[in-house]
Amino acid sequence: MIPYGRQWISPEDIASVVDVLTSDHLTQGPAIPRFEQAVRTACAAPHAIAINSATSGLHIASLALGLGQGKRLWTSPNSFVASANVARLCGAEVDFVDIDPDTLNMCAGQLRDKLQIARRAGRLPHIVMPVHFAGLSCDMPAIHALALEFGFQVIEDASHAIGAIHDGGPVGECRHSDACVFSFHPVKIVTTGEGGAVTTRNDRLATTLDRLRSHGITRDPALMTHDADGPWYYQQLDLGLNYRMTDMQAALGASQMQRLEQFIDLRHSLARRYDTALANLPLRRQQRDMAGRSALHLYPVQLDPSLPDRAGLRRRLFDRMRNDGIGVNVHYIPIHTQPYYRALGFRRGQCPVAETYYEGALSLPLHPQMSDADQAAVIDSLTSGLTSLGLI
Ligand SMILES: *Cc1c(COP(=O)(O)O)cnc(C)c1O
Repeated sequence: MIPYGRQWISPEDIASVVDVLTSDHLTQGPAIPRFEQAVRTACAAPHAIAINSATSGLHIASLALGLGQGKRLWTSPNSFVASANVARLCGAEVDFVDIDPDTLNMCAGQLRDKLQIARRAGRLPHIVMPVHFAGLSCDMPAIHALALEFGFQVIEDASHAIGAIHDGGPVGECRHSDACVFSFHPVKIVTTGEGGAVTTRNDRLATTLDRLRSHGITRDPALMTHDADGPWYYQQLDLGLNYRMTDMQAALGASQMQRLEQFIDLRHSLARRYDTALANLPLRRQQRDMAGRSALHLYPVQLDPSLPDRAGLRRRLFDRMRNDGIGVNVHYIPIHTQPYYRALGFRRGQCPVAETYYEGALSLPLHPQMSDADQAAVIDSLTSGLTSLGLI
């Protein structure tokens, strides 16, 4: 099976993890600041806080920005469930802003319309969480302008997007947001096994995030409410969690980060080949020509929206390609249609663009170690599948 995404582990990556295993520190050691420095450099951000998953990062970023009961977080329905779940974990309400049919990202125009209605109802969100779908940044200058106008904070879910460039700078620089969160799960761009990082330009937020990932505890005398009892002393200032990354993970991540540009370049060569091969097929591709560079975590396509019974056709195409050994996948089942969110009152029909996209969606395999032969097999299987369905 050619998987839709896969890690690329080099001998240097392995050696860096083995080094940690024979060192004094398996956690809370020197590999963590080394990895954080690599993320800071790649993102041109003054702060990076490593944590054990993007979900953890989204959670503590939301907590640190004051999300809680009686407050609201809005995100994209075209995302992994974690984007919405973290708001529920904070005790807050969730709502969804529909996507743009071309970029498949949260639509800034729909966000504006929804904000105007919410302002009249006195129900403005505390946080908006745009999701950079497939590695393509949302329109952050537009979302930032709305944040200033309507008074909400912004957390970027950049789980797909380390290495992406937007509006003249790297995603993670936080010029248009309060915080930006990356995932290092093995299917993403760079991996630490499980893992994540939060970047921010806000010094106070960085200090709070550092504390929340480790029980709310500080060892910094400057932050303590009174003088330390002695060298052993620490104080718990907030209710935190254990969301720490291990040094084995951080060493892997620091080694992987050295190849970030190579990973992105290889993804782009593969995507260009898909673009050419798919140009005349009855498929719609994600429009990626917004100013900047996608990290190309995914290569999503959808069956032409004008086709009748797209959901049935997509199912048959998916099954055929899987039978051919092609690990196609579907990103994403709109979050608001999950049983957990239905039980909260959400219904199909609330985000029609995301729902229509989902019915015809298929993610083609894309990872940097894919060979030309692998990619040719994907294109062959896709073309013969569409032929057998009578679509070409
Ligand atoms: C993968 C992913 C997450 C969760 O990342 P973890 O590191 O697995 O917690 C959150 N949001 C999006 C959009 C993702 O793709």
